[in-house]
Amino acid sequence: MRTMSADAFAAESQADSPLRTLAPGLYLVATPIGNLEDMTLRALRVLRSVDVIACEDTRQTQKLLNHFGITTPTVSYHLHNEAGRSEELLARLQSGGRVAVVSDAGTPGIADPGSLVAEAAIQAGVAVYPIPGANAAISALIASGLPTTEFTFHGFLPAKEGQRRTLLEALPRDGRTHIFYEAPHRIEATLADLEQVFGAAQPVVVARELTKLHEEFLRGPVADLRQALAARNVRGEMVLLLAPAAAAASEAPAASIAQAVASLMRLEQLSEKDALKRVARERGMGKSEAYRELQREQGRLR
Ligand code: SAM
Repeated sequence: MRTMSADAFAAESQADSPLRTLAPGLYLVATPIGNLEDMTLRALRVLRSVDVIACEDTRQTQKLLNHFGITTPTVSYHLHNEAGRSEELLARLQSGGRVAVVSDAGTPGIADPGSLVAEAAIQAGVAVYPIPGANAAISALIASGLPTTEFTFHGFLPAKEGQRRTLLEALPRDGRTHIFYEAPHRIEATLADLEQVFGAAQPVVVARELTKLHEEFLRGPVADLRQALAARNVRGEMVLLLAPAAAAASEAPAASIAQAVASLMRLEQLSEKDALKRVARERGMGKSEAYRELQREQGRLR
């Protein structure tokens, strides 16, 4: 492991000054996922200094470049031309060029193009530099409240229900956090699958519109989240997280009345009375029976 003294750190920072010319190589540059303030100073310097920027969508990146007054030429580099374009970019890199790769948003290579050209460059002995910045999965994880010591990033779940269920059923239930990207039009179907596989009480987190004006973390039992999302017809970009443990499997007991009422009050801003009415109806209980049970649970908590 490399450690740095304060002097060495200052010297390194100076070497990384705006006046330093950029070394030849491939630069994988992260860009914001919704908040332009997440553009790093280093990313700006690299994008200004490279010979060309390979973009997932040149029009999308041009907006970012215009905002920061960057005039570097761009070429397209996306899923459909990734293999062919990688060869062209590699030829440029092998003759001492400096190439940046950016995706529409976030970190290239993470559920986005970027990894093919990185692999080709490494095999050809070309230097590859990560320029870190925004990433939806890590941003969601660190504020999810779920374990961060061990986690698995799965990218997008399969769109087909059968394949999705198979993948979910095979997830290790060892307390590590599983992170998925999910499309807004599929989130309800996916939550229904999660409920089937892990039980209604399985805690999940949906992190939406990260770094944007309407950023929101929805946390609670999967059954409650499913209802809350359906009621609000929620849209926008989302990350889905859960950390199933053996005890949270489908045979696990349902959430207590107090927990179910509290999460409905939080997620749907219902009054306690309305939340209790809903919980009673869903559990096939009379209102007064549910109320007595709630009081009993609350008494036990005190
Ligand atoms: N490379 C990107 C990254 O580093 O996060 C991910 C690109 S992937 C094509 C796009 C997916 O990432 C979205 O469908 C969503 O699941 C997630 N995502 C991107 N931006 C997000 C945001 N601001 N809030 C929540 N999820 C986001």
